[in-house]
Amino acid sequence: MVVYLKDFLLNIFIILSPLVFYPYIHKLKNKTFLYRTMLGMLFSVILILIMSLPININGLIYDFRSIPVIIGSLYGGSIVSIFLFITLITYRFILGNPNNLVYAISLLPSLFLILFTLSKYGYLKVYQKVALAVVLSILMKMITFTLYLTYIQNLDLLINNFTESLQTYFVQSVVIGGCVYLIELLNKYFEMQDELYKSERIKMVSEMAASVAHEIRNPLTSVRGFIQLFSEQDLDKEKKELYQKICLEELSRADLIISDYLSLAKPDIEIFDNIEVNGEVRYLSNVLLTIANYNNIQIYTNYFEDEEIYISGDRQKFRQALINIGKNAIEAMQNGGVLEIKLNKESNNLVICIMDTGVGMTAEQIKRIGTPYYSTKEKGTGLGTMVSFSIIKKMNGKISIKSEVGKGTKYFFTFPLLTKASD
Ligand code: ADP
Ligand code: MG
Repeated sequence: MVVYLKDFLLNIFIILSPLVFYPYIHKLKNKTFLYRTMLGMLFSVILILIMSLPININGLIYDFRSIPVIIGSLYGGSIVSIFLFITLITYRFILGNPNNLVYAISLLPSLFLILFTLSKYGYLKVYQKVALAVVLSILMKMITFTLYLTYIQNLDLLINNFTESLQTYFVQSVVIGGCVYLIELLNKYFEMQDELYKSERIKMVSEMAASVAHEIRNPLTSVRGFIQLFSEQDLDKEKKELYQKICLEELSRADLIISDYLSLAKPDIEIFDNIEVNGEVRYLSNVLLTIANYNNIQIYTNYFEDEEIYISGDRQKFRQALINIGKNAIEAMQNGGVLEIKLNKESNNLVICIMDTGVGMTAEQIKRIGTPYYSTKEKGTGLGTMVSFSIIKKMNGKISIKSEVGKGTKYFFTFPLLTKASD
């Protein structure tokens, strides 16, 4: 036994090693022709290797040829099956074995038997598949050998080597059963992966829908604020024009968010504008002013009066990010307070600081901020900061938060400065 154990192990290794390729072949499952061609080729290579390295058990020359033929047939279908039988006969001929025609005829019952079971194989449970593969491999060996040896009148070979023969049946059954079980395990795993992928997509789409609704509410709220301001009597022409301009800009932002959502299915095309940040701070404070007015909140800005400052990113998204943060600051100051928006340069970086004197956050809350659906507000969505942070990170920005309960919160966003406007 020990003498040929090495050969056995080598054969088992040959049979199992191509399973490494199986995940790649499985990906072709939807392209039936390619899938079958690959399976046919894979199993014929195994078949040839196995037939080239037979095991000699006390004079009984033996190999596991039935294993690749049966597994290839069961998973590849009838054409792969016929192809593997032809490979088997052809390679036997090439190896110079005698009585090829007799051998081919002895194989025929097994071929029909396998073709007959194929149509039912897909509907079986895993243990039934394992059992069927084991039974087929036993039958194939038994029928072929008996017919062949009867014809060449050498049945004694089997009878004289009865125990060896029994061993080969046993090992063969264990190997083919194990193989089928492994393949089924892999199939199950791939199926689960597909399911997971699908449910992730559905989750993503519904999360996006929620975030879109949330993002559209922001411009709508500020437009409403400005329209209310219009009704004030002592509004001069200049202010009216400014408010009107902001209203239109906010509406087109809402429009843009919708089209962004609609284009979700398409790959994300990155936009890199040169964003002049002083202008953005002015814009942000104007937008926030409309909500701040309700709540008795002062807004102070601090930017570079006579120097243009540029960073790179998608302007509309950048606005969206800052408005979300600014809105949170205002919402944290229900009883009034001060909101400050400051710009600072630190070596080659620009730091945008948004500070409020609101309720503040505990260390635990700071940790959770930016994770989806984390909200302490009755009507909160917990999406605003998540969206903002992901926009800022895409712009190579760094985020830091300092907060004290009862005193207020400071957000610092650090972006690499563009040295010179390149357009
Ligand atoms: P939402 O505003 O809908 O609650 P966000 O993602 O914008 O969702 O914010 C998540 C949570 O982070 C808020 O509910 C709030 O508890 C906390 N938070 C964010 N910004 C501040 C702030 N400036 N001051 C205090 N808490 C804040
Ligand atoms: Mg918010």
